[in-house]
Amino acid sequence: MTESLLEQIKKLRAEIERHDLLYYQLANPSISDYEYDRLVKELQELEARLDEAQKQDSPSEKVGSDLRPGAQTIPHLERMYSLDNTYSAEELQSWCEKLAAELGAFPQLAVELKIDGFSINLYYEHGDLQYASTRGDGLQGEVVTPNIRALNLVPERISHLHPIEIRGEIYIPVQDFLTLNETRAANEEKTFANPRNAAAGSIKLKDRAEVKKRHLKAIFYALGRASNLPVNRQSELVKWLENLGFPVSPSSEICLSYDAVQKFCDHWETERHSLPFEIDGVVIKVDELELQRRLGHTAKSPKWAVAYKFKPEEKETRLLDVQFQVGRTGAVTPVAILEPVYISGSTVSRATLHNEGEIRRLDIHLGDSVRLIKSGEIIPKILETLPQKRPADAAEVEFPKNCPVCQSHLERDLDGAISYCPNASCPAQLQKRLEHFASRNAMDIQGLGESLVARLLEHGYVSTLPDIYSLDYEKLAQLDRFGAKSAENLKAAIEASKERNFDRVLFALGIRHVGSVTALRLAEHFQNVDALAGADMEALAQVQDVGEIVASSLAAWFANPANRELIEALRAVGLSFGQLSQRVSTTLEGKTFLITGSLASASRTEMEDRIRAHGGRVVSGVSAKLNYLVVGEKPGSKLAKAQKTPGVQIISEEQLWELMES
Ligand code: NAD
Repeated sequence: MTESLLEQIKKLRAEIERHDLLYYQLANPSISDYEYDRLVKELQELEARLDEAQKQDSPSEKVGSDLRPGAQTIPHLERMYSLDNTYSAEELQSWCEKLAAELGAFPQLAVELKIDGFSINLYYEHGDLQYASTRGDGLQGEVVTPNIRALNLVPERISHLHPIEIRGEIYIPVQDFLTLNETRAANEEKTFANPRNAAAGSIKLKDRAEVKKRHLKAIFYALGRASNLPVNRQSELVKWLENLGFPVSPSSEICLSYDAVQKFCDHWETERHSLPFEIDGVVIKVDELELQRRLGHTAKSPKWAVAYKFKPEEKETRLLDVQFQVGRTGAVTPVAILEPVYISGSTVSRATLHNEGEIRRLDIHLGDSVRLIKSGEIIPKILETLPQKRPADAAEVEFPKNCPVCQSHLERDLDGAISYCPNASCPAQLQKRLEHFASRNAMDIQGLGESLVARLLEHGYVSTLPDIYSLDYEKLAQLDRFGAKSAENLKAAIEASKERNFDRVLFALGIRHVGSVTALRLAEHFQNVDALAGADMEALAQVQDVGEIVASSLAAWFANPANRELIEALRAVGLSFGQLSQRVSTTLEGKTFLITGSLASASRTEMEDRIRAHGGRVVSGVSAKLNYLVVGEKPGSKLAKAQKTPGVQIISEEQLWELMES
């Protein structure tokens, strides 16, 4: 065997292990399932040349683990397996033929929908639910009983009194998933890539009230350890589970030939989007339970079943236009306007192009033909443009130099490709900016939320932040569905906000990269806004953890005369630009942290500030002294290093928030 084969295998294994971690433990995959499955196939093909002992610890031979460090676990009485899979009809046919040859006849097959969720195991004793756990590493799972109980998805008591493990899938219906993502986007929280990740991220949440809001559902189709069963077939088992009170799949079929199997697969490949939940394929199982037992398992999957997975659908359409949208912090996002095309269950006419870098990568021209997929089957993504089909006079798409709404010259962040409108009074930013200003961690003006802000803007009652402090409450009381009492409450809340300290006021201004902790540090260091506004890059960099990115963002903000005027106007209405808050922190006391990849809820610097504000220490590299590695989007090499370093716990951004708030 050549050295390079082993090297290739080693590299591929490391890559797959990294994706396993992102997918199973952090519910944040960076590649599609199809791409992942191709990597695993490639590894299996290379490993076919190794002997058994050399394959033992390979990710191709193991069930991917969702176990998180420190979580409460429980052993499964019978192991939980994965499924072998194929994306090819030919391979599925040869699987069926091999099975028929081995058994001497084509077996009766139970063909079921493959629900794209998160595996769950329930254990009942004397008919009572004892616990619920995740698949974990296949041998032991994480205990999620309180969440399963809170969701009211499964019977507390069943009529089968012998010990039994009942298994199925937790999922989020597509509509609930879309609503969840919309709400998260509105709150500027990170959205989930697809319903499977949303279900995986939800079932382990500590906050029970939040779990209930996630609208999780379940479908059951399998058993682990069980005895005294009144059924002999998979198809009978599903009916029995339904009679016991478990939700089961709306569609399954008995097939006696390969053609029948293929027909079921083809039907659901086209009709999958008529279902209220996501499926990622079809599972083909030997129906007779005794035959299943005889066929047995490999280390990873049953030999009596296979998953036929659907390839992600791809469509070609035309780019009609590119619009540039301005968000709260002024970030300008290009959005592709497409000739409407039906793909993976819905009509798509828009797709985000993220930033200028993506426009360049795609070399996008107006009128281009583009290839589109839905990433994770949900979010439209342009894969590539087709230059060979480009109209002769097609104009290249240029990123604007000025804000498309207020015409201010756009500025660029030091850390990357994102362009910002620097004008705090830009109307496009105003709605979001006002909401942020009034939000709980900023000026905390109760009652001044999204809908009231929209109404105030619509009636022209506000057009700048200071306008909040000169509202005509008599006029407000005349507003439909508002009234004198609401106007009075709002007035009191707005008056009370004048008492907020300088750091909160600074945070409320919504300066890019200045989160609440950075605002506190700046306020403590400079004591008042005049000193802060007068600070040059060098002076700003003196502040603990204010690096080049935050410093240049501040310098640019204060250099803009419109922003200076804003401060004067807010000072004139009575806001404090000099009074300080107390620092609070203890929850992360004595622990060390390191962040890799970009975070969704805060910039890295801001999150590091928060860690410190809660008593934690941020270190510069992975070593045995590191307690927690926080993994964001597109993590770097620190992740692989941390995986190999004993004692380092790898956590997601959400888990970090939980630690801070615990
Ligand atoms: P899987 O999801 O492909 O299939 C096995 C699972 O299917 C079972 O554990 C079960 O929970 C579920 N299932 C749904 N309906 C079923 C039914 N009717 N009968 C039986 N089982 C049913 O396998 P997995 O081990 O959970 O995950 C491996 C897959 O996860 C990979 O093939 C890949 O698609 C995906 N993955 C993706 C990434 C990534 O980075 N994108 C990383 C790791 C894994």
